[in-house]
Amino acid sequence: MKYHCPICRKPTDSAANADFPFCSERCKLLDLGAWASEKYVISEPVIDESSSENSNRKADDERN
Ligand SMILES: [Zn+2]
Repeated sequence: MKYHCPICRKPTDSAANADFPFCSERCKLLDLGAWASEKYVISEPVIDESSSENSNRKADDERN
């Protein structure tokens, strides 16, 4: 049965390929990596805007 690798869309064969449904071990690992990075999403650090605002205000004060 012909099948397409879900990672790179290359045709892969369930009978001939040990890494089926992937075309290669590389694509299998890529899929694992994608799954892992989705699971361990690192939330973006919250940028404290108030601190930079304060420093800008301080600079204005000194200019005036
Ligand atoms: Zn592939």
